[in-house]
Amino acid sequence: MTDRLYYHDSFLYDFDAEVREVSESPRPALILDRSAFYPTSGGQVFDTGVISAENEKLKVTEVADSEDGHIVHYLEAPVKDIKPGTRIHGQIDTSRRRDHMQQHSGQHVLSAAFVKLFDMPTVSFHMADDYCSIDLETANLSKDQVERAERLANEAILENRPVDIRFVTRNEAGKLGLRKLPPGERDELRIIDIRDWDISACGGTHVSQTGQIGCILLRKVEKVRQGFRVEFVAGQRAVATARRDFTILTETAALFSAHIYDVPQQTAKALDAIKVLRKQREQSEEELAEAQAAAMLAETAESGGRKLIRRTFSEREMNSLKLLAQKLIRLAPNVVVLLGSTAPQPSLVFAQSPGQPFDMGQLMKQMMGKLGGRGGGSKDMAQGGLSNAAAVESGLSEAAKSLEATGP
Ligand SMILES: [Zn+2]
Repeated sequence: MTDRLYYHDSFLYDFDAEVREVSESPRPALILDRSAFYPTSGGQVFDTGVISAENEKLKVTEVADSEDGHIVHYLEAPVKDIKPGTRIHGQIDTSRRRDHMQQHSGQHVLSAAFVKLFDMPTVSFHMADDYCSIDLETANLSKDQVERAERLANEAILENRPVDIRFVTRNEAGKLGLRKLPPGERDELRIIDIRDWDISACGGTHVSQTGQIGCILLRKVEKVRQGFRVEFVAGQRAVATARRDFTILTETAALFSAHIYDVPQQTAKALDAIKVLRKQREQSEEELAEAQAAAMLAETAESGGRKLIRRTFSEREMNSLKLLAQKLIRLAPNVVVLLGSTAPQPSLVFAQSPGQPFDMGQLMKQMMGKLGGRGGGSKDMAQGGLSNAAAVESGLSEAAKSLEATGP
């Protein structure tokens, strides 16, 4: 078993050790007799850093526990001269370790705050690259409760309470009033004792005074299966997150030429204005289509008791083509309409007044088959989309020819 130096001192960033095992596959890795590198476990992610020997310097990219109790240091590149017995020097990435200590210790303080205030136990802890989360076992969690827990946790941080590491037997632990007694067979438990605040069994790395956590900021809250997930950031992460939030808010406020505190109100106002404009545009489009349809009908002569209206537009949305077709077939009982637009999407719309004898859906399918597009519809109204603009014109003339050939 590797001697875990971080068990006794989370601030030990440098150490000397001896190589026990070198492995090359599946990835280059080292096992040492002792290590200060933290392997991923208990929700906390691994340390990174450097292991160096006389002529070699190796980057440690991941650290994990092996099943038989060793710490495995995965390396960026294979070793050259390092062998079992080689003396090495290990250096941990201090800013990463410090960040993890802030997040993990912040979690202990926060979980205890939720228990003290609302008797809500933490059932799991997750640490991601830019945020952390705890899952609380509770049926309800209000915004006010979240803010109260955040305030209390920050008070415990400001009180700068000592954080002690102790090793006790499972029996002794039972009498200490642990927040949660971990399952398992091991008789010796590592206890993290935040003075007069929280006692937990934990193998992670923690600060030595709560003041080193800096601060804790609660963010997203969401319902999960067992209860509620609360995202949080502590220490420098909290500052970086608040800085990013402020930047985004400032940029948004600048778009409105408003103060950041007025952003929600300004956004609501803008959304309301968009709603009104959209309604006005729909109404204008309706009126325009109606007027356009009337003009088109007026300038088209009847032939064989029927008006055939055929028109290509250079810039018209499919919906707008359909609207025009609807107006045309509603304004007169004897219209057959073949419309096309080359942009923004090459498209065709065929329609006929109810009672006319053709089948527009069928006709559209035929045209699409010939021109390589997709479309269809009902007997009186059909639409189709084409992949190239040049096919629009030929689609319309082919359709007209087909109607002439089949028409009564
Ligand atoms: Zn812990």
